Amino acid sequence: MGAFTETIIADARGCTTCMACELACGFRWSKKMDPSQSTIRVHRNDATGLVDIQVLEGCDSCSGVEIPYCVVVCAPQVLSLGRKRSKKNPGAL
Ligand code: SF4
Ligand code: SF4
Repeated sequence: MGAFTETIIADARGCTTCMACELACGFRWSKKMDPSQSTIRVHRNDATGLVDIQVLEGCDSCSGVEIPYCVVVCAPQVLSLGRKRSKKNPGAL
């Protein structure tokens, strides 16, 4: 069996850019409502209207929490906890 790690999966098509996930994640890391500390970033391109959601390197999928903070607060439910193949062993099955 290959190695998998948990990660946040985002479907940006339903994102309303409410920024609740950035606030929740910033609070998770800093205990303040500080989105600059967030390890999830949401950006809407004003020219195209397209939304880009990036989960940054420091995200640990809210280790120790049953449902990650960002997933809990995302009302349109465009965030979910999924799995990706570990970078350390990309070729394993
Ligand atoms: S899973 Fe936790 S650490 Fe990762 S982006 Fe969401 S709130 Fe932040
Ligand atoms: S909480 Fe959900 S809808 Fe709001 S900005 Fe984050 S991903 Fe988008």
